[in-house]
Amino acid sequence: MNLYEIILNKRNGKELTYEEIQFVIDGYIKETVPDYQVSALLMAICCRGMNERETFDLTDIMTRSGETYDLTVIQKPTVDKHSTGGVGDGTSLALAPLLAAAGVTVPMICGRGLGHTGGTLDKLESIPGLVTGLTKEKFIAQLQTIGCAITGQTPNLVPADRKLYALRDVTATVDNIPLISSSIMSKKLAEGTNVLVLDVKVGNGAFMTTLDDAKILARMMVSIGKSAGRNVAALLTNMSQPLGYSIGNALEVEQTIKFLKNEFNDNDFSDLVYILGGWGLVLAGKVSTPEEGVHKLESLVSNGKPLEKFCEMIIAQGGDGKVVDKPQEVLPQAKFKKDIFSEKEGYISGFDTRRIGIAALELGAGRITKEAGIDPAVGIVLGKKIGDRIEKNVPLACMYYNDENKYMQGMKTLLSSVKISEQEPEDELRLVYYIERGN
Ligand code: URA
Repeated sequence: MNLYEIILNKRNGKELTYEEIQFVIDGYIKETVPDYQVSALLMAICCRGMNERETFDLTDIMTRSGETYDLTVIQKPTVDKHSTGGVGDGTSLALAPLLAAAGVTVPMICGRGLGHTGGTLDKLESIPGLVTGLTKEKFIAQLQTIGCAITGQTPNLVPADRKLYALRDVTATVDNIPLISSSIMSKKLAEGTNVLVLDVKVGNGAFMTTLDDAKILARMMVSIGKSAGRNVAALLTNMSQPLGYSIGNALEVEQTIKFLKNEFNDNDFSDLVYILGGWGLVLAGKVSTPEEGVHKLESLVSNGKPLEKFCEMIIAQGGDGKVVDKPQEVLPQAKFKKDIFSEKEGYISGFDTRRIGIAALELGAGRITKEAGIDPAVGIVLGKKIGDRIEKNVPLACMYYNDENKYMQGMKTLLSSVKISEQEPEDELRLVYYIERGN
């Protein structure tokens, strides 16, 4: 088989066969196929698309690119949640210990930051000492003892996604339904979870900016999960403003700790954590309605058990457990912080959320190239969200940074992404638009 022909065929809109896709993925993992040819193929896929059969095949080949986990040794229901990517979306960090405290087991295989969005692994790794490349034995043992574990793709676990993900991140080939579906579902099928709640983000901070596209993505992933015998639901949720207030790796860990301490409630972040968790408990058969699930999870947070679980998980993965008591002493801190003020008074009527993600990336919170490192300490804490009144002397946001030039760039991007109007916006923001169920 010839890679040049495969790229040319896709560029000309032809369907790829199972064997052709396998040839590319195998070669890429074995390093007989270089980055530049895979980049060209990814771009051709973004421009010409892949049909359902090709997407199923790609998912299957990626899932089998490494080992797959059999979690039947675990007595409790296994429940995972995965988001298609957003800005300030640290819900996975909160959900893993929360669901474990509710009596289900949470095997989470996550990714790093992708494009303008943050990644759970990068966030978690801002905790000093914490490792995310768990071996199969360690992953399963931790699930059995603690009830939750968060790990990343390793050379043995979905290596195809690990490599493709890093390449897509820097080649503008992220926002494509077949590529997102296969990336997410290969990880979820390989990790062996039985129940899966998908958070399909929609809005100007998501990879899917319209409800129609988000529905297609949701249906594709639910259908892949269903055909593999998994119990899957997808919630289409609002990403037209950052979730919560913090954007940046250590800053989002700090926000999660606040949530788990029951000090960060009644906002879109906490509402979404509870709704996604409530659905996880419904699919796992632990409660009959999402509302009942939400209620159960809320009372758990007020009794402190999920915070203990979070601490246990961190320590089991080599991290410094003191982070839950003294987050600011343990987490990396930026050298500088500066409040940003608006030049106008009025109401926040909208954000260009993707650009807010870019502003965080410009500060150093994400990667510009595949090899680049990230700065875990930097980021943005919003002072205001859509519908809030803004006065000239009240900060719109606070920027955390280590480099003045990066600050200047990020600050300009942030300011240009905020829309202020004289009138209070009339439309109420919905958190969940639609739910797609597998059965
Ligand atoms: N999350 C993933 O794991 N993969 C994607 O492609 C997008 C979000």
